[in-house]
Amino acid sequence: MTRGGFDGVAGCRHNILMPQPPLTVYYSPAYVVEGKSETVTKSKLVAEMIEAGNAGEVWLEAPKLATRQELESIHTSEHVRSTFEDKGSFLEVGPWSQPLLDSILASTGGMRDAVKEALKNGRSGSLSSGLHHARKNSGNGFCQFNGLALAALEALKKVKTVGILDLDAHAGGGTFDILGDHKQVYLADVTVNSFDSWEPSDPARHFYVEVDNPKGYLGHVEDALHSLERVDFLIYNAGMDTYEKAGGMKGITKEMIRKREKLVVHWARARKIPHIFALAGGYKWGGLTLEQVAELHLETVKAFAA
Ligand SMILES: [Zn+2]
Repeated sequence: MTRGGFDGVAGCRHNILMPQPPLTVYYSPAYVVEGKSETVTKSKLVAEMIEAGNAGEVWLEAPKLATRQELESIHTSEHVRSTFEDKGSFLEVGPWSQPLLDSILASTGGMRDAVKEALKNGRSGSLSSGLHHARKNSGNGFCQFNGLALAALEALKKVKTVGILDLDAHAGGGTFDILGDHKQVYLADVTVNSFDSWEPSDPARHFYVEVDNPKGYLGHVEDALHSLERVDFLIYNAGMDTYEKAGGMKGITKEMIRKREKLVVHWARARKIPHIFALAGGYKWGGLTLEQVAELHLETVKAFAA
């Protein structure tokens, strides 16, 4: 069955014994721009795996596009204007194109709709990538708009505090640039790579670590979650580029990534706080196929759907 405004990609199997409604995940074909980087191509394969039933009970739903007004709540009006009107380069993957702009607006809007769904039904996600490096006044590192920041502001319409857990290989310096001073936003960032690193300015709300030994990785993730004990809503940037064969750190195995996803979900459920995910980084750099990258991201969807 299809719910939402597009045909062909949706999955639903009813089970009356389920204690919670099926997971709704935001995605539409507009997310995808063929021939471009993994950031705007892999979601299609993840959606196909969901549709085939490989992630359990999951609905796919098309989001509403992010509006200029929403984007101006997190970015300078000049950055938004130049994105819409100038012939420039998005995501560092090629010349301006309407499909690329539509992709960014759809996947950014998916983060806002995931928040709304999680506030109603406890959990959600969006097959969005390319978020956490985008700063107030510019795009950066495959990220044009910061959908994590938009999601945080959306959640704060209903809750008092929001946590953004960023487990992408790279740091979320863009998110810090936009929300580092926001007193209701807690940031926890576990990285294996110093790209876009940031300096915590408020130890009560900021947790940052660059991992130097894979054996300590899951312990750092636990510490990051501990730093978010006070939040009422969790936004999880579930990067797969930490995995050793996806361009990440040698010694971080697929089994560790699976454990990480379960750890995050169990933590949020134990505290009964709404939680959403974004796909974030995950690349073919280490020799993986796009299908293998998508299978890694499916681990996040499975953990949320279980
Ligand atoms: Zn990354």
